[in-house]
Amino acid sequence: MKIRIGLGYDVHMLEEGKEFFLGGIKLPAEKGATGHSDADVLIHAICDALLGAANLRDIGYHFRNTDERWAGMDSKYFLSEVTRMLHERGWKVGNVDCTVVLEAPKVNPHIDAMKKALAPLMQVDEDDVSIKATTSETLGFVGRQEGVNAYAVALITRDNG
Ligand SMILES: [Zn+2]
Repeated sequence: MKIRIGLGYDVHMLEEGKEFFLGGIKLPAEKGATGHSDADVLIHAICDALLGAANLRDIGYHFRNTDERWAGMDSKYFLSEVTRMLHERGWKVGNVDCTVVLEAPKVNPHIDAMKKALAPLMQVDEDDVSIKATTSETLGFVGRQEGVNAYAVALITRDNG
């Protein structure tokens, strides 16, 4: 069996009054992430980790942020499409491990709901989706609540036969 790993990173700006989509769900928040799609920073980082593991470039390469088709798009579509691309090439998602860096609101109470939303899109068990959250201890743009970061690593496997 062939095993590969991949790394993903993403950042989005936060803006007052915007809806906040994170990990495939809508978070109750005063500020939300801005971007061309629904700006789900966690899904974008996971997509990049999976694409990187399969050596298929990155999310912006497949879903350009100048393409009107993706304006306001639900990022769950991107993750299911990335999974489909991997399956086409014989890869299966093993597990993903992620960290969201966000000052407010608290992410921990929503992690179970995020895992439930994301696991089926990658066709893995919820136990194969790890999501962790931390703050930036008030430092930098995340600490000033101007933005949100997400990191992800993914493992994928392919049978040799
Ligand atoms: Zn993004």
